[in-house]
Parts: sequence; structure tokens; C-alpha cells
Amino acid sequence: MRIALLGYRGKVGRALQPGLEAAGHDVRGIGREDPVDVQGLDAAVDFTTPGAVVANVGACLEQGVPCVVGTTGADLAPLDALARDCSLPVFSAPNFAIGAVLMMRFAAEASGHLARAEIVELHNEAKRDAPSGTARATAALLPGETPIHSVRLPGLVAHQEVLLGGEGQLLTIRHDTLSREAFVPGVLLALERLRKLPPGLTVGLGALL
Ligand code: NAP
Repeated sequence: MRIALLGYRGKVGRALQPGLEAAGHDVRGIGREDPVDVQGLDAAVDFTTPGAVVANVGACLEQGVPCVVGTTGADLAPLDALARDCSLPVFSAPNFAIGAVLMMRFAAEASGHLARAEIVELHNEAKRDAPSGTARATAALLPGETPIHSVRLPGLVAHQEVLLGGEGQLLTIRHDTLSREAFVPGVLLALERLRKLPPGLTVGLGALL
């Protein structure tokens, strides 16, 4: 596929571009100062900033290009309406690491058996949004109001623990993203399935697994 990668010079973009190329895709990198010219491409992938993503994806949809969105911390609801109007799919996931999706599933299953849960999410200090999209999505799968604790420190990539406490026991379900290459298989899967998704916004890798 011919793919635009918005945010190709970012931390995720720098891992994603070689991963997409190694899988046989032809990648056009688009940075902050570049025009969003995606005419004739098969798909666009956005890993930019919460302030840029809606305008970027909107511009891609208006040029007839379906999108995969990794950027977190923005309200993507306006893109759902626009994508429906354009009869194009947009796929977004708070976490493209397949192990993280499994962590969320296992936590949801365990929450039916253990009384209370809390989430600790730990990310690199440069991450702008807190709590993380993954932590919010995990909490939405658990019963009641699940407290979320956010840690931002240098040296971290993306990590999350779901702690589930019962009488006399603690279950910890933990996922560690050790490098940003972890996001490549999830993005490749989303690109492979993108054209088969219905028009509008589809959220979460779980919908594709
Ligand atoms: P980053 O290192 O700050 O990179 C963001 C990149 O976007 C920068 O290269 C920046 O350009 C570029 N950019 C800013 N505005 C732009 C615009 N209007 N058009 C095109 N490019 C633009 O951030 P990151 O760590 O790569 O993360 C990017 C996003 O992905 C964040 O929202 C993060 O939370 C999210 N994320 C999601 C997942 C997931 O699995 N869903 C995983 C990791 C990260 P400059 O270099 O010129 O500033």
C-alpha cells in the first residue's frame, strides 16, 4: 500500500516507518511543517499530537484517504461524523501493542472474580496526556469507578499494571512496552483490515483480533 505517515519524525514515527517499509509498504513521511498532501494514497497513519490529529485526519478524509490513528488525548468524535459523510473508515486504538490489548481483556475477566481494582500507568515524561488512553479504556471495561494513577518519568516507554485485590490476595496483570517497535504489528493489522471496516470511527484493536 502507499501510505502517508503523519508524525514520521516523532518517537513512534521513527520506529513505524522502517516497520511499514519492511512489510512492503511505500511510506510518504509528513511532518509538522509539511502540507497534508495525501491525494491518491491508499491510507494515512497519524502519530502526531492531540492538537494536530483532528485537522490532519480531516484533511486526509477530504482527499478520500482512510486513516489509522494512534495519537491519543484528543476527542475524535468529530472525525466519526466526517468519516461517515465521506463513506470512509477511520480506525483508532489507544494502544497498538497486542500484549496490552490482552492485558485489558484479562483484567476485565479477573474483575468478575476479585472485589476491587486500581490501575497504575507509567509513561515517558514527554507524554502529554494523563491518564493514558489505555488506562481509561481499561477502566471502562471494569465495574464501578476504577482509580487510575499516572507516573511520568524519563527512561520509561509505556507500562501499565492492573492490581486486583481480594480478601488475602492480590493479582497483578502487567504489560511493558519495551520499545516502540511493539506498535508495528498492530498498525499493520489495522492497515490490512482498514478497507473492510464500516464508514465512521472504529475504536480498539480488540475489534480486529
Ligand atoms: P512525539 O515524539 O512528540 O512525535 C510527534 C510528532 O508529530 C513530531 O515529530 C511532530 O513534529 C509531529 N507533528 C506535530 N504536529 C504535526 C502536524 N500538524 N502534522 C504532522 N506532524 C506533526 O510523540 P510520539 O511519542 O511519537 O507519540 C505521538 C502520539 O502517539 C502521541 O499522542 C502519543 O500519546 C501517541 N501514542 C500512541 C500509541 C498507541 O499505541 N496508540 C503508542 C505510543 C504513542 P515535530 O518533531 O516537528 O514537533
